[in-house]
Amino acid sequence: MLTEKTIIELANLLEKGETSAEEIIKEYIKRINTIDKKINAYITFDDEKAIIDAKESDKRRKKGAHLSRYDGIPIAIKDNICTKGIQTSCASGILKDFVPPYDATSIVKIKEMGFIILGKMNMDEFAMGSSTETSYFGPTKNPYNLERVPGGSSGGSAAAVSAMIAPAALGSDTGGSIRLPSSFCGVVGIKPTYGRVSRYGLVAFASSLDQIGTIARTVDDAALLLKVISGSDKKDSTSIERDNDFTDELDGQIEDMIIGIPKEYFDSVSSDIHECIFTRINQLERMGARIKEISLKYTEYAIPIYYLIASAEASSNLSRYDGIRYGTRSNNASEIIDIYKKSRSEGFGKEVKRRIILGTYALSSGYYDAYYLKALKGRSLIIDDFKNVFSKVDVILSPSSTTTAFRIGEKINDPLEMYIMDILTISANLAAIPSLSVPVGLDSNKLPVGLQIMGNHLQEKKILNMAKAVESICDPIHPEV
Ligand code: GLN
Repeated sequence: MLTEKTIIELANLLEKGETSAEEIIKEYIKRINTIDKKINAYITFDDEKAIIDAKESDKRRKKGAHLSRYDGIPIAIKDNICTKGIQTSCASGILKDFVPPYDATSIVKIKEMGFIILGKMNMDEFAMGSSTETSYFGPTKNPYNLERVPGGSSGGSAAAVSAMIAPAALGSDTGGSIRLPSSFCGVVGIKPTYGRVSRYGLVAFASSLDQIGTIARTVDDAALLLKVISGSDKKDSTSIERDNDFTDELDGQIEDMIIGIPKEYFDSVSSDIHECIFTRINQLERMGARIKEISLKYTEYAIPIYYLIASAEASSNLSRYDGIRYGTRSNNASEIIDIYKKSRSEGFGKEVKRRIILGTYALSSGYYDAYYLKALKGRSLIIDDFKNVFSKVDVILSPSSTTTAFRIGEKINDPLEMYIMDILTISANLAAIPSLSVPVGLDSNKLPVGLQIMGNHLQEKKILNMAKAVESICDPIHPEV
């Protein structure tokens, strides 16, 4: 089945003329129409447009004018990345009618290579959440167990790749939103170094933390797609100009690499996950890596620091949705102040409102020093913590999450319980370092376990190489949907 193939396999088949873009798209359409009823990974899926795009790609290839080896391969896109002419809702009521007049830079780049947009993926509203339950369009289900969450906020992207209703996807990660769902759904997800990928056209949540990254079924696929979207961009002044050569010679050679194991990252981890991760660490040691216990001593402060900074930035970024400048306007108001109030109170969901209130409070005069400024100081300590550790180790290994996928509804009414889910992922965002999650097996409930690999700034190649080594010792896992 073509839907089981990786990007690299599809590219080879296309190159040899053994399949066509149209054939690939049609297989996906058939599978999406049966499987997505159960999973709800897609917010927007336009099969007619996808077929038109595929036919155009086939025409190009016939003439020898294909845009790259990947011309005609479909990719799913998280619904907070702007796609020209295609609804980009952020899974929010306030943006449900928003159709961007432009493409995000990462979309321009994938289109330049001939990739086809397969659809727009479900997510937590404005990427705020860890379970994809806060979506205006209803929750996405985990393909391994339909009663469980897929993780969040890029839950639609990860679930689709896992269930083979997309070969790969773009997601965004502000505090773990690529790695947590990748871990829960048994796929590979990478958040690059802050600045590696342009944020232009990514709907802002917390600008100093947001990064677009990739989700795929293999390390090679995730890496190659990341390379496609990487690069500096004059439309994003925080993007950086660097070699994007991190896919060359990815051979899984890890001899003499020093792996740091942070003891704080195993404190509240379930015993199944603990065992699974240590089995892999021991195997990596036998392959020639050196293991070193390390300490990231400010880990316990990462949650309050992140939730203050992220919410403060969100409260500012989301002020533009007022029914006048941006966002659906309330029909129940005529006075200007009322339009603002009602558009926002009707358009935003509960979690988004909670963040706006928290962030506005933290930024208000009288509280700024006590909360926001203090959080910024805490962030510096976390940055120093990593700087210090990376002078001694090449990569840091830990679980991606303290538990495997939890039940739908289990944490949605307890925000703190939900926030704690991010404890192992958010420090990488605060420190702006690259980090990925790679599947390493199943727990006793037959749910995927993810291993997190963090590296120093711009060391994507090191963490991808380590991920290749991990992949080589793990049996591939797939859900039965
Ligand atoms: N779960 C975190 C939050 O709710 C991270 C979200 C993200 O990375 N977009 O803020």
